[in-house]
Amino acid sequence: MQEQSHTRCDTAFRNATIVDGTGAAGFAGDVAVTGDRIVAIGDLGGMAAAREVDCAGQVLAPGFIDVHTHDDNALLMRDAMAPKITQGVTTVVTGNCGISLAPITLKRPPVPPLDLLGAAEEFRFSSFDAYMCALEADGAPVNAAPMVGHTTLRAAAMDGLDRPASDREIAAMQALVHECIEAGAVGLSTGLFYGPAREAPREEVAALLEALAGSGAVYTTHMRDEGDHIVDSLNESFDTAARTGVPLIVSHHKCSGRENFGRSRETLAMFDQARAHQPVALDVYPYAASSTVLLDDYMKKADRIMIAWSEPHGEVSGRYLDEIAAEWGCEQGEAFQRMKPGGAIYFVMDEEDVRRILSYPHSMIGSDGLPHDRHPHPRLWGAFARVLGHYTRDVGLFPLETAVHKMTGLSAEKFGLANRGVIREGAYADLTLFDPARIIDRATFEDPAQPAAGIEMVMVNGVAVLEGGKTTGARPGRALRRAA
Ligand SMILES: [Zn+2]
Repeated sequence: MQEQSHTRCDTAFRNATIVDGTGAAGFAGDVAVTGDRIVAIGDLGGMAAAREVDCAGQVLAPGFIDVHTHDDNALLMRDAMAPKITQGVTTVVTGNCGISLAPITLKRPPVPPLDLLGAAEEFRFSSFDAYMCALEADGAPVNAAPMVGHTTLRAAAMDGLDRPASDREIAAMQALVHECIEAGAVGLSTGLFYGPAREAPREEVAALLEALAGSGAVYTTHMRDEGDHIVDSLNESFDTAARTGVPLIVSHHKCSGRENFGRSRETLAMFDQARAHQPVALDVYPYAASSTVLLDDYMKKADRIMIAWSEPHGEVSGRYLDEIAAEWGCEQGEAFQRMKPGGAIYFVMDEEDVRRILSYPHSMIGSDGLPHDRHPHPRLWGAFARVLGHYTRDVGLFPLETAVHKMTGLSAEKFGLANRGVIREGAYADLTLFDPARIIDRATFEDPAQPAAGIEMVMVNGVAVLEGGKTTGARPGRALRRAA
């Protein structure tokens, strides 16, 4: 039976350099796909295929997993996932930094940073399951592994966010966490850095983690402080996770502010120490500038600031704050206040820290792209191609196999995504075909909405979502509910 079923396949990728996502050395061969699965790997010359794809000179890798996204609502829209598909991403983890689209319904404008996900009417899912079902009903262009956000839970359970939650409110949030985990959420995220979560003590977070302990779901955190007090914040994160035994993933690790340049030596040593007795990993994006809503803390820290969007002054998107202030004839601080609510790109990091964190063996690639920004940070369109083209091929930070592992196999392992992130018989046919000599990010700070170059074909669950440089419009993506 098996012999027979392997004499034909739907799609045969021929003569590829196969980089399988495990970190193992690439090898030459063919990969056969039938239905939504990889059915054979090797020299498959005797196998007939409904469709042949000649891969000479190209690398076939597992589809990339973007572990740090804010694509909760973009997945449900028509064309909003092009930034990810065009750089080879086939799965996104949503609900990062404490903000998730579900479970909450809003009648009034969402408090920043919840507004990064959309306007009030987008927050329309009173249960996590309803959100998962919406993903499944319509299909999404790529797979989604959603997390629930602590800030969303606070907004759902509390009338004011400028204080710790009461026991009753914690119980209400715990009930919501249970419901989310039942519905298949892959984790809980916090954004303790942001106003609406800042007053939550570590006990509040630990109480919510208790509600998911043992489920296999993870804890991800945009820490309280990524600058002067980064050591305290790392210790808090390690401690909160260790108390409940929940695996920890520190989000978009960075050392922010000029006075903290170089401190990744110290922070990565702390990761090594923590990893000796608890599961800890991190994600990182390949740029020395961050991006979020307009925040006074960040304004003081940044060397330079570019405005990504502004509700009252839409015309300033993509321009630098110092130039806007000069034109308006006011201080930068005043111009900054006048542009709220809005978002910005902050140049706050040291390139050497970025490289050191990218090179750390337990770091995964996550874009942290903001899909609804009018002038987004280029990471939205460029993060994965930049790691492969710029940092791997041109700078030589690490071998191609390591880079691919950081965006596939390692990511699937850390988030518990079964049969994803690897090229293996029986695994799902999430595949990205790219030209290793040509792949590069083209998105820049000045011109960010530019697709990556060198991505030849992208397949999700056996269906092409990009070929010949164009998205196909197919929606074969699935909601990846964490297995119980
Ligand atoms: Zn964040």
